[in-house]
Amino acid sequence: MIQLFVPLNFLGFVYRELKKSLADTARMFRLLDVEAAVDDAPHAQALAATRPAVRFENVQFGYHTERQILRGIDFTIAPGRKLAVVGQSGAGKSTLARLLFRFYDVDAGRITVDGQDIRDLTLASLRDAIGVVPQDTVLFNDTIEYNIAYGQPDADPEAVARAARMAHLDGLLARLPDGMNTLVGERGLKLSGGEKQRIAIARAILKNPAILIFDEATSSLDSHAEQAITSALAELAANHTTLVIAHRLSTVVDADEIVVMDDGRIIERGRHADLLAADGHYAAMWRLQQRESA
Ligand code: ADP
Ligand code: MG
Repeated sequence: MIQLFVPLNFLGFVYRELKKSLADTARMFRLLDVEAAVDDAPHAQALAATRPAVRFENVQFGYHTERQILRGIDFTIAPGRKLAVVGQSGAGKSTLARLLFRFYDVDAGRITVDGQDIRDLTLASLRDAIGVVPQDTVLFNDTIEYNIAYGQPDADPEAVARAARMAHLDGLLARLPDGMNTLVGERGLKLSGGEKQRIAIARAILKNPAILIFDEATSSLDSHAEQAITSALAELAANHTTLVIAHRLSTVVDADEIVVMDDGRIIERGRHADLLAADGHYAAMWRLQQRESA
């Protein structure tokens, strides 16, 4: 009886934790209102690769059938490389991230990770392999340490502290009387957008995922905070297959490929210098941002 009872109880625990973690991730994407539209295929395999390529092949998608949002998107991020996506608000940039995380399935085309269609991978292994630094980080009502270690409750406190340093949180932590044990979130200390984002970066550093998705904040950070985030991101992106959704072009200059999106299509692509030389949309956006920051 005892032998049967313990595993069942444990399974219940695992199930509750799993449900909680999916709900929390959904919250990070501000998608809680979305019905779970995806599920494991019967033959789903676990993703094994630690340095996978990510590929979008003629991806078409709409949240509702009557309105297409992505109209045939093609790109490849080679293992360890960085692809940046730029374009106006509403172009479909964040939708790419939601599809790679498999919050939704594509309507046509496919997305592969390490050559495997993500619909043939287990959701848990796919999502385990992806670290997301979202546009708008939602913190849990708990300590800074809990928020950084979230998803890895067994993390070594030393590793958590190291991740915090790499995310340039040491200045903030030094100012707080309770340091890592400071309560944050709605019922704790209110942090700025930049500070919350650095906590998300520290979480991603600690998770050390194979794939990184970084959806930059649109909120205007002061230039010091922006520099700290940009350098933390560059350190984190090195050696990870990275998708950066960039609102500030200063963070895409070093990308292996830059894709310019407009209304669900790719209208320009190349490296920074090539796109400037082409003197098209990207070059115009670049000149505009240079003038604004001058
Ligand atoms: P971007 O990140 O480039 O600003 P998004 O990918 O967030 O753009 O959105 C692309 C389009 O999809 C927008 O027109 C947006 O209104 C629409 N959209 C985004 N999320 C949803 C959703 N959950 N349901 C319906 N439409 C959505
Ligand atoms: Mg967006």
